Amino acid sequence: MTRIGAEVGGVNLAQGLPDFDPPRELLEALPGILSQTRHHQYSFTWGSPEFRQAVAEKCARFNGMKVDPQSEVTITCGVSEALADALLALTEPGDEVVILEPWYENYLPACVLAGARPRFVPLSKSDYALDLSRLVKAVTNKTRLMILNTPGNPSGRVLNREELTEIARLCQRFGVIAVVDEIYEHIWYEGHRHVSLASLPGMEDRTVTVSGLGKTYAVTGWRVGWAVAAAPLTALIRKVHDYVTLCAPSPFQAAGCVALALPDSYYEDLRREYAKRRTILLEALTRSGLGFTPPEGSYYVMVDAKPLGWKDDWALVNFLARKVGVLAVPGTSFYTRRGGGKSRARLNFAKKAETLLEAARRMCGQSLRLRP
Ligand code: PMP
Repeated sequence: MTRIGAEVGGVNLAQGLPDFDPPRELLEALPGILSQTRHHQYSFTWGSPEFRQAVAEKCARFNGMKVDPQSEVTITCGVSEALADALLALTEPGDEVVILEPWYENYLPACVLAGARPRFVPLSKSDYALDLSRLVKAVTNKTRLMILNTPGNPSGRVLNREELTEIARLCQRFGVIAVVDEIYEHIWYEGHRHVSLASLPGMEDRTVTVSGLGKTYAVTGWRVGWAVAAAPLTALIRKVHDYVTLCAPSPFQAAGCVALALPDSYYEDLRREYAKRRTILLEALTRSGLGFTPPEGSYYVMVDAKPLGWKDDWALVNFLARKVGVLAVPGTSFYTRRGGGKSRARLNFAKKAETLLEAARRMCGQSLRLRP
C-alpha cells in the first residue's frame, strides 16, 4: 500500500509508523552518544549491561515484573526479531502454536521459519471478544506456545485481568509457554489498562514478554526490542539471537537508556495525544458510515465497509487509495480463515492531527458507498 501511495499520493494510514518526531530528549541525546567511540562497535551479544539494567527497571516500574538483567533480558533488533528468536528457540518442528485471529502479520511467518504448526483461535467478528472455550479447544498435547498481543494490532483489544487470569490457568494446566507481544503496552484508552501476563502468579517462569522502543518513543527505524523470560528460556533465546543478528544497534541501545528513564508525564502525554488522534479518526469513520469497534488500545482501527455495500477488501482499499486518497491495509491480511476480514480494512492513527484531519476531509468529502 505504501508503494501504491507513492504512485497515487494518498494519505498513508496503512503501514503502522508515526509521521511525527521522537521525544526531544532522545534527539538531543543522540549527538553525544554518536561522539563516543564505544557506541560504534558491537555491544554484548544479548545487549549492553546498561540497557539490560534499564529494561529490568522498566519491567519493575510498569509491568509488575521482577527481572534479573544478567540472565533474563535479551536485547534484539526490534520486536520482530524477539518473536522470531522465541519461536525458533522454544519450538521443535511439528510443535503447535496457538495464535489469536486476527493476528499481527509476523506470527505466521515466524511459525513457518521454525517449522511449528499454527492453530488459530478466532476472536468474535463483531467486537474481537475472546471466547475462552474456543481457546481451550485449540490447546492439544502438542501445543508448545501461545502467542498473545495486547494491546492488539489490528484488533485494538486490551486483554483484561480476568481474561489473562484464565489464560494463565490454561498455560499452567497444559504446560504451555506464552509469548506476549506488548509493543503497544503504553497506548491504551479510558476504561482500559495494560496488564502484563508475566506479572500474574505462576506465569513468571512460562512467559516470554516482548516489547521495544519503536512505538512508545516513535522510533520504529531504530530497531531495538527485547525479550524478557526466565533464565532457562532466555538461555535458549540468546543462542538463536547470537547467530541471527549478533547484537542490536549499539548507539540506539544507549539512546534507549535515555528513553526508558523518561518521567511518568511522558507516558501520560503519549496517551493523551493518542486519545485525541483516535477521536479525530473515529469521528470521521462514523460520519462516513463505516462500521468499527472503538479500539481499547494500540493505534489501529479495523473498519467494516459491509454497511456500505463492500464485500471485497482489495476492491475497498483500491477505491480508498485511488478515488478517496487514503491508504489502508486489506482486512484479509490478518486472517487465514476463509472470508476473515473480507469486507474490512485496517487504518492507523499514529499520525499528526493535521494528517488525520486531511484523511477525514477526504473520507467525508464523498460517498464511500459501493456503486453498483
Ligand atoms: N508486533 C506488533 C503487534 C506490531 O504491530 C509491530 C509493528 N507494526 C511489530 C511487532 C514490529 O515491531 P518492531 O518494529 O519492533 O520489530
